[in-house]
Amino acid sequence: MKLIFSGIMIPVSTIDWYGRSASVIFFNGCNFDCLYCSNNKFIEVANRLEPLFKKGTAVDIEEIEKQVLDAKSFISAVVFSGGEPTAHPRELEHLARFAKGHGLLVGIETNGYYPDRLRALIEKKLVDKLFIDIKVPPDDAKRYTIITGGVRDAAEHALQSLALQDVAIEVRTTVFRSFADVTGIARSLKGRDCTYVIQQGIPEYAPDGKIKKEKPFTRDELEALAQSVSFLKDVRIRTREKGEERII
Ligand code: SF4
Repeated sequence: MKLIFSGIMIPVSTIDWYGRSASVIFFNGCNFDCLYCSNNKFIEVANRLEPLFKKGTAVDIEEIEKQVLDAKSFISAVVFSGGEPTAHPRELEHLARFAKGHGLLVGIETNGYYPDRLRALIEKKLVDKLFIDIKVPPDDAKRYTIITGGVRDAAEHALQSLALQDVAIEVRTTVFRSFADVTGIARSLKGRDCTYVIQQGIPEYAPDGKIKKEKPFTRDELEALAQSVSFLKDVRIRTREKGEERII
């Protein structure tokens, strides 16, 4: 069976998995259509992602494997991102197995919509860490549906992903002024063994016209948001200016 990969790759990144140097593989396409998604813009802005891997052109998966091997002396992990990597289960499993076979850790950045696919990878010991994007409080199914562009069971699936066992979990929320309910999200994480990262949303890349006009949160405002959820054990912020900082 010949697998085709459609996406891009950054051979060496130090910002996607805190404390690790990783190759980041971006799968094209997503089952959500979030109001603030910067994905299309992200892929178009070649300079931000240099060196890009063929700008999303479909290629044989072996070409991606070769890029990982070329970067191997500089990395200890591979992170699968997107788009939504779990929307491509065969290619994801194939590449995760390849990375593990070469002694690399595997992380998956995901919207949490496919808990069964994630569980299968955990059971096969093909993933070490999940980075789950939680957008609004997952106990509010209606808001979750709106923010994801109409995916009715998105919140229910995200909760199932948050409950996965035998894997390290980092939860991430990208905040914009029109929706920054980190308190509600943090409440749903209380008692869970996970890191919580509040990320600075960049309104100019959002497709939604209203969000586009917002001012991004400043670093100090993000710190205040993090302080407001000090009932969690490990809270961080991530900004363009300063990267990742642990606040709690
Ligand atoms: S889940 Fe992520 S990649 Fe998919 S539409 Fe939402 S923000 Fe974009």
